[in-house]
Amino acid sequence: MKAVCWYGKNTVEVETVPDPAILNPHDAIIKITSTAICGSDLHLYDGYIPTMQKGDILGHEPMGQVVEVGKEIKKLNKGDRVVVPFTISCGRCFFCQNDQWSLCDNTNPNAWMAEKIYGTSPAGLFGYSHMTGGYAGGQAEYLRVPFADVGALKIPDGMPDDQVLFLSDVFPTGYMAAENCDIQAGDTVAVWGCGPVGQFAIKSAYLLGAERVIAIDRVPERLRMAQEHGKADTLNFNDEDIFDKLIEMTGGRGPDRCIDAVGTEAHAGGSFDAVLDKAKASVLLGTDRPHVLRQAIHSCRKGGTVSIPGVYGGFLDKIPFGAAFNKGLTLKMGQTHMHKYMQPLLDRIQKHEIDPSFIITHRLRLEDAPRGYEIFKHKQDGCIKIVLKP
Ligand code: NAD
Ligand code: ZN
Repeated sequence: MKAVCWYGKNTVEVETVPDPAILNPHDAIIKITSTAICGSDLHLYDGYIPTMQKGDILGHEPMGQVVEVGKEIKKLNKGDRVVVPFTISCGRCFFCQNDQWSLCDNTNPNAWMAEKIYGTSPAGLFGYSHMTGGYAGGQAEYLRVPFADVGALKIPDGMPDDQVLFLSDVFPTGYMAAENCDIQAGDTVAVWGCGPVGQFAIKSAYLLGAERVIAIDRVPERLRMAQEHGKADTLNFNDEDIFDKLIEMTGGRGPDRCIDAVGTEAHAGGSFDAVLDKAKASVLLGTDRPHVLRQAIHSCRKGGTVSIPGVYGGFLDKIPFGAAFNKGLTLKMGQTHMHKYMQPLLDRIQKHEIDPSFIITHRLRLEDAPRGYEIFKHKQDGCIKIVLKP
């Protein structure tokens, strides 16, 4: 089959690789019909995530048709259309039973690698380094889905791929980010980052009762989407002092809830903290560039919540923990507990509360993935979300 393979910083290639096979009775094989490139893939493309190996198959936002099932698969049949979540969960461990699916104890065969950095290991992820299991990803013609009965969500007939594909990651991720804010009536929610995760966080904040959303980015078409589709007020961080502006827009108090939908590769112009982060990263002294997290903690109103869907990997520097403490902030974060959100959000799509396809700006053939990574990374050609079609 054809698959998008990682070959180091800024290098992906479409190669012919062996088809996946059933390895475990709980596996299913799906033939991919649509698959997307995620902001998280850019962290791999930019060389920020350790334990990648040359030739690793990328991708964690896939959907397709079941073509083969293992002996223990009970719920899926050949021919079913399914969306596959980016996290792999067993459904039986303490964490899955507690609805904390991305913390599954049984799906990372390389748990020891993550334990070295994190103490204990999160769940295995598709196409996301050996530290999270070394699973082949879904930017390919076929995908092996472990614990397929637990994860893969069956899609009712008549719903096009474009409408349901983002149940694989970015819609639940934006939704959980908003849910983690514990939004109260009258709340103002500030969202840093108007990429796909930010766009869904904006929509979800309103679905969950926010009065007003303020969205922050510097890419004009992303800000426009946040305004037109998301009904957010927007701020361009190239033009404004974000802290001053947020304080001014909230009567001196600061936003009630702040969402960091940017993560480890924040841009910060020439600000002092950004220069320091870059210098440290370049000599391998620091791994993350948490400019947005700092700004969110700094801006959030006293007693408010900072929700962090943006991915961080290592040891963060100069986090204003004193501000977080003395302002009594609540911080919530993590990889999305996908399995908890997929069915309820599918229901919302069916009830026409939201149509996630608004996010798609580009449709490319799988073979064109290398160009896709380039335009998505550099925000060229108005690119906000790319769907690849094998
Ligand atoms: P993306 O790269 O398309 O979007 C990031 C946006 O942040 C860009 O539009 C960029 O211009 C903007 N940005 C950069 N610096 C900024 C700053 N200082 N202030 C405001 N905006 C700034 O990525 P995405 O697909 O939307 O993903 C966003 C983040 O969410 C990534 O870190 C990704 O890894 C993470 N993510 C997390 C989960 C999870 O389970 N928690 C799942 C999916 C994605
Ligand atoms: Zn993703």
